[in-house]
Amino acid sequence: MKHSPVANIEFIKQVNTASVYRLIDEQKQISRVALAKLSELAPASITKMARQLMAAGLIKEIAQQASTGGRPAISLTCEIEKFVFVSGKLGRNNLTIALHDIAGTKLTTYRVALDTAPDNNVIPFLLAQIADFIDANINTDLQRLIAIAVTSPGLIDRESGTIVYLPKHNLKDIPLGSLLTKKFSVPTYIANHTQSLSLAELYFGAAQDCQDSVLLSVHDGVGSGIINNGKIFTNHNNQVGEIGHIRIDPLGLPCHCGSHGCLETIASNEAILKQITGLINQGHETSLTIEGLTIEGICSAANSGDELAVQVLQRVSKLLGQAIAIIVNLFNPQKLLIKGEIVAAKELIFPIIEHSVQQHALGSFVPNVVINEAQFQNEPSMAGVALVRKALLEGSLLNHIIHEYDNS
Ligand SMILES: [Zn+2]
Repeated sequence: MKHSPVANIEFIKQVNTASVYRLIDEQKQISRVALAKLSELAPASITKMARQLMAAGLIKEIAQQASTGGRPAISLTCEIEKFVFVSGKLGRNNLTIALHDIAGTKLTTYRVALDTAPDNNVIPFLLAQIADFIDANINTDLQRLIAIAVTSPGLIDRESGTIVYLPKHNLKDIPLGSLLTKKFSVPTYIANHTQSLSLAELYFGAAQDCQDSVLLSVHDGVGSGIINNGKIFTNHNNQVGEIGHIRIDPLGLPCHCGSHGCLETIASNEAILKQITGLINQGHETSLTIEGLTIEGICSAANSGDELAVQVLQRVSKLLGQAIAIIVNLFNPQKLLIKGEIVAAKELIFPIIEHSVQQHALGSFVPNVVINEAQFQNEPSMAGVALVRKALLEGSLLNHIIHEYDNS
């Protein structure tokens, strides 16, 4: 896209304002003089940007008593409580909606089963639930709603905010972003859940200290989110990282994708439950019972030495390690984070995964990668928080707020 010179100047201003806001956010409180020094922008520009951010209520002045006594210095700090956003996760079985403040802190959260949606009509249900949630939880005298983010599994076009394909809910080409903007008049951010969660690990979680990381999520399927050079690794249609469909067992079971022996047919929650059920049916001895079988139950049985649970998780870990070795060879990440109920058996699974990676990945890459559990195991709204944070710190959402709430 080619910008006109005027549009370019506007764009540079927007980027500079965003970097000034980011510095104030990082430093918690900072003087204009220190801001000019850190940002390498002219003091006059800092004064102007600070005035603009203050007019929109995004930052405020606070007096800082100088240690030597005398006149207190004036610092700038971000206004946190005033701005809030909604972050939702449309899951396979549940809808989670949470309210976060502009800094990302969770204020409240709500979860509802999706089978309560009338005729399984998920999108109207989602819109109605968000409307009710906003009515119940936002105090419009004190708080301003600045954005809505929704993440979900399936194929999502982030640019247009469209759910391209989500078979579980029978959704195809749903312009969710536009529907939400039309109803609530705020910017919206729609993206794949695991990809967004990998960004949450980078901004707030276990991958904060590195620029290259991969989140491997073991759930009903197996998915991944790849962070490369501090950005979500993606492509023209946001469909990458289908680690669940790497063939790991040439003689394995058929997969719903049409292939067979995919990682998902062995290492997903569903596959683990299926393997244990089959083995119990064959008469193998175990403390587990088919009725009420869960991944949590299997992990806790494995942790107390149940031989059947241990053997199944050992095999799953070994094959997960093989798939991770492929990721390591392709992306050479600094961190590989695992999310899923199976991390409850981490003492058992992590050493096997690590050993398997050592065996199968390039010797020179293996020392670079730390394999660990993800920080956000059960906080689905953090995925949307990362999307909003990205838009804020990169400037587009910040710019929207500046124009929307300018009181000067
Ligand atoms: Zn497959």
